[in-house]
Amino acid sequence: MRTCQRYLLPYAILIALLLSSCTSCSQTGGSQATEPPLPYPQFDRHTAFAYLEKQCDFGPRIPGSQAHQDCLEWLVQELEDLGGEVIRQEFSASTPFGGPFEFTNIIAYFPGDKPGGPVLLGAHWDNRPEADEDPNPALRTQPVLGANDGASGIAVLLEIAHQAHDKTARRPLIIALFDAEDSGKSAAGQFPLDGWCIGSSYLAQNLPAEIPKPEAVIVVDMVGRGSIPNSRVGTPRGSKNYMELQTEGYSRQSAPGLVDEIWSIAEEAGHTAFVRARRGHIIDDHLSFILQGIPAVDIIDFPPEWHTIDDTPEYCSPDSLYQVGDTLMRYLYGVRNP
Ligand SMILES: [Zn+2]
Repeated sequence: MRTCQRYLLPYAILIALLLSSCTSCSQTGGSQATEPPLPYPQFDRHTAFAYLEKQCDFGPRIPGSQAHQDCLEWLVQELEDLGGEVIRQEFSASTPFGGPFEFTNIIAYFPGDKPGGPVLLGAHWDNRPEADEDPNPALRTQPVLGANDGASGIAVLLEIAHQAHDKTARRPLIIALFDAEDSGKSAAGQFPLDGWCIGSSYLAQNLPAEIPKPEAVIVVDMVGRGSIPNSRVGTPRGSKNYMELQTEGYSRQSAPGLVDEIWSIAEEAGHTAFVRARRGHIIDDHLSFILQGIPAVDIIDFPPEWHTIDDTPEYCSPDSLYQVGDTLMRYLYGVRNP
């Protein structure tokens, strides 16, 4: 994921063109404000955190590594055990860090019984090969463990699958675990999107024929920030010691109705990490779908440990995972406070 603004203008223009022929893109909400609250499965923050720790136990899941392969097999097995129809979408690709590498997007489909097309919830499961934002230059060639950048989003999705698989009173659900998100480099212009989001781009351009096309996409990325101050990396981006989920630029352009619905649900539920401040445009996995004409929203934080070797479970929190997981469960089950 990358925030570098100078590469964004061409995509902004392309998205404007897409939106001009897609006036329904903002009408992606599934629930009604007048609907009474319904019972819905409760997202378990501690189970979710265990999913985060389990991924980190493999080590950095960087392309070509044994940890990457081992985590892949665990993720597939986990989703199969949770009752999803699991598709392994395999492909090979080079990245700005080298290759070609073998990559796998993991896609699980959970039929629902509420009206509407499926919503795709996505996160990336790979990690960054180099901690190039680390304050210590000597550590910048170390791999990133990715407790927050990678594992937190996957943890939220696994716990949603865990809770949702036998409670089908919800919209059809696709859970997509993207490979090869985090190998981009600034000015790697020979790669689309500078080498970021390779897996989600492949999926968005090669949607499996076995499952219905998603009506909307919600990506979660870096949603696990804890409240422990990090004295080594500090708060270099002026950030605070708690998660802050601002609205993101491409999301607001692509799916303003869905952004408003998600943030409204979170506000009604008292999930204070969701704020209405407007973040800039971020190259992240949601953009892969927007570029294919599918409305998409990114729920993303910027922790101080981003792309440093301190992106470890120590700086993550079950409570942050819960705020995002509960919001998404309410969305999937159409739960709105009266
Ligand atoms: Zn990253």
